[in-house]
Amino acid sequence: MARILLVEDETSIADTLVFALTREGHHIQHCETGQKALSAALQTHFELAILDVGLPDMSGFELFSRLRQTTSSIPILFLTARDHEVDKVAGLEMGADDYVVKPFSPREVAARVRAVLRRTNEPHPPQTPSSALSSVKTVGPFLLDKAGMRVRFCNQALLLTRIEFLLLRSLLEKPGHILTRQQLLDHVWPNNLELSDRIVDTHIKTLRAKLRSVDAQKDFIQTHRGLGYSFEF
Ligand code: CA
Repeated sequence: MARILLVEDETSIADTLVFALTREGHHIQHCETGQKALSAALQTHFELAILDVGLPDMSGFELFSRLRQTTSSIPILFLTARDHEVDKVAGLEMGADDYVVKPFSPREVAARVRAVLRRTNEPHPPQTPSSALSSVKTVGPFLLDKAGMRVRFCNQALLLTRIEFLLLRSLLEKPGHILTRQQLLDHVWPNNLELSDRIVDTHIKTLRAKLRSVDAQKDFIQTHRGLGYSFEF
């Protein structure tokens, strides 16, 4: 059971989704515009947001960016129109967790929601003091907090998206090893067979920029052409 923010201006689609997801035990708050969704997100903590790409007052992508400014780690699922192939990739490249193409069956959306929630909840073991401690690991100048999904670098907290965190975690767990784009895809987006490995490059780029903003001298993420990426100190 999760609190879900649904932003969709077509009433018939929204009603179907509210019905299907409520039946799964979720609590749905439905908004018809981006502005209403932004106010709702300030008042309530949501575990997931489902955003239509074509909203009346702003695009779903703009809403995504603005939501991420206030609740940086909220998982996001986009609803995209079938004739806009580019929207799927654009959404995922921005860091969305998944997308569903219209027209869809409510059952399909419910399954995607279950998968996203399962993935998001995975890295959180029970919070006893000892397990919280064992989930924190020092790797060179990095402090990796797996349970908290946070990384500190040179004593500064990095403001990472969930996808950047998962990529950095994969690399930090095997310093000096080359991970292929496919391995990174499998770590970050398991079971998604449709994604191109270019999406890995996009997020590595933003991750690199964030690391450089702390230490401009060193490039920790090395590119190995035709192979993948490694983390080097
Ligand atoms: Ca729409």
